[in-house]
This record gives sequence, structure tokens and C-alpha cells, in this order.
Amino acid sequence: MVEEQIIQLLRKSQLSVTDSRRKILEIFIQAGSALAHHDVEEKTSERYDRVTVYRTLQTFMEKGIIHTIPTTDNSIKYALCKEDCAEGHHHDNHIHFVCEICGAITCMDEIHVPTINLPEGYHANQINMVVNGICKNCKA
Ligand SMILES: [Zn+2]
Ligand SMILES: [Zn+2]
Ligand SMILES: [Zn+2]
Repeated sequence: MVEEQIIQLLRKSQLSVTDSRRKILEIFIQAGSALAHHDVEEKTSERYDRVTVYRTLQTFMEKGIIHTIPTTDNSIKYALCKEDCAEGHHHDNHIHFVCEICGAITCMDEIHVPTINLPEGYHANQINMVVNGICKNCKA
């Protein structure tokens, strides 16, 4: 159940269960794809102001609940993390698929990301892999 999942996630991250946190997490779980700040804002506009949405997203980022996805137009999208992310430590080196038609961004955790062999002395902290194409909903 979504409600249970939300409370568990918040508890695991040692966050108190507030109305705004619950609602914003619910939006992410139901969306199933990445959301921009304004998408979240649009869905919560009658209930929370910009600052509340912003702060909640920041907290979720810090706690390893959501991660950011870079986009070509420089806007930031947010998506739910997998279970192995923790406070101050993200493991989101997965492929992000961007649909050229509907613009939906999907996390593809199940696809193996090839290891990148960097020259000696270099250490990668984060690898951003973005694949552009047509998603299954848009494929006629
Ligand atoms: Zn993460
Ligand atoms: Zn699409
Ligand atoms: Zn992702």
C-alpha cells in the first residue's frame, strides 16, 4: 500500500511524518517517472507554497529518497531512489531514458551500466547516463 510505503520511507530516513512530506512522496510514487520542481508544485499548489515544496525536495535529496537527473535544457528533474541510497550517499548510476515525444524521464535500474575505465588517478563519483528516444507509451 502506498500509504504504508511512504511512512516506512520517512521513518527509515529518520524524518517525521508531516503532511507535506507524505503528499509529495505520494506524488512521486504515483507519477512513476521523474518530476520537475514545478510539476510537484502544480500538483500541490492549493496546499503548499513554493518554499515548502522546495524545502521538502531538498530534504528528500539529502536523505537519499530522491535523486536529481540532469536534462538537456538545464532544468532539474527529481526521481525516487532505490532502496540502497542513504543519507549523504546516493547510488544512482543508472540509465535515464528521456522520451523525445512526451518528455517523460524514466529511471532504468534494471539495465546494467557499463563500467567506465578512467585513467589512473581519476575517480568517478557519479555517472550520468541519458538515453534519448521514444518511450513505450508513445510508440504507436
Ligand atoms: Zn539516490
Ligand atoms: Zn513518451
Ligand atoms: Zn534515476
